[in-house]
Amino acid sequence: MAKHNYAAGPCVLPQDVFKKAAEAVLDLDGIGLSVLEISHRSKEFIAVMEKAQSLVKEILSVPEGYSVLFLQGGASLQFLMVPFNLLNTNGKAAYIETGAWAKKAYKEAAALGNAEVLASSADKNYNYIPKGFEVPKGLDYLHITTNNTIYGTQFKEYPTTDGLLIADMSSDIFSQKIDISKFDLIYAGAQKNLGPAGTTLVIVKDEILAKTDRKIPSMLDYQIHAKADSMFNTPPVFSIYVAMLNLEHMKAQGGIEAIQKHNEEKAAMLYNEIDKNPLFVGTAELEDRSNMNVCFLLTDESKKEAFDKAWAAAEISGIKGHRSVGGYRASIYNALTKESVQALVDTMAKLA
Ligand SMILES: *Cc1c(COP(=O)(O)O)cnc(C)c1O
Repeated sequence: MAKHNYAAGPCVLPQDVFKKAAEAVLDLDGIGLSVLEISHRSKEFIAVMEKAQSLVKEILSVPEGYSVLFLQGGASLQFLMVPFNLLNTNGKAAYIETGAWAKKAYKEAAALGNAEVLASSADKNYNYIPKGFEVPKGLDYLHITTNNTIYGTQFKEYPTTDGLLIADMSSDIFSQKIDISKFDLIYAGAQKNLGPAGTTLVIVKDEILAKTDRKIPSMLDYQIHAKADSMFNTPPVFSIYVAMLNLEHMKAQGGIEAIQKHNEEKAAMLYNEIDKNPLFVGTAELEDRSNMNVCFLLTDESKKEAFDKAWAAAEISGIKGHRSVGGYRASIYNALTKESVQALVDTMAKLA
């Protein structure tokens, strides 16, 4: 039995979203059909897609001139779609290497064209966000990973470029207010703060599309997906439906300001305990600490067995650290409650 789900992704979603999703599997809004069997061309699903898109725009205050797409292939396919659509054959892209995901994104671009790593925190196992680097002029785009899920670091200020600014926001989208207008394209696998795995959110400035000299395969072409309203082929109907339910939930919670405040309070609870408890130490540089993924180690390895037993007994799951960092990682996404954070804080305090 696990009551407090700290998994890094797929992760916790609100209970009332699960309930509504379960009802819709049997009967969608009383129409007598399951959400799993309706046509993606039906008026019911078109309404779901439109609602999901408009809620994304409303919650994140997306300015005019951007399209909201629900695609497939995860954030990992975006690693390839971004250079295919935005890196000219004679152009250049730059990447800030802040972890394994950023490195994978860079690898896809480098396989396709001219891409460089502009700054990296690999020297300290990605426990900080590089700063003070100079961004060269004339880039096609600069790519950043705003929150580094594995290492628990997060950009607090975004770099600027005279090229396009592209961000992988898989693990911190919808966690805080962001100024979308600073970005030309944002992508995020749904399974961290938005919904179940299966769909990928893309927010793209329309005017940047159809500008490269590359021939783009249809399924990789943002413009084709935008023109078809994310229905170029059969979209992941259920994932988008559940994401829509979660977006409704976010709105009902008070929108992004309320969500951000809740997340900051939860992160403060946990970091306070890590900092005052002599048995624990955080792995990320203080100023770069993530509000979504909190990574920490035991200072005394002989306590490992006792701690592992204690958190399991407290009905906590999913806090084992990623193998490349070790220790523990508590992912405190939107739907994780303060009560759950308190359960972990209490368990850590009792150990000391
Ligand atoms: C989880 C994650 C990914 C990978 O997402 P997929 O949807 O599994 O491809 C990419 N980037 C970041 C920052 C992530 O946290």
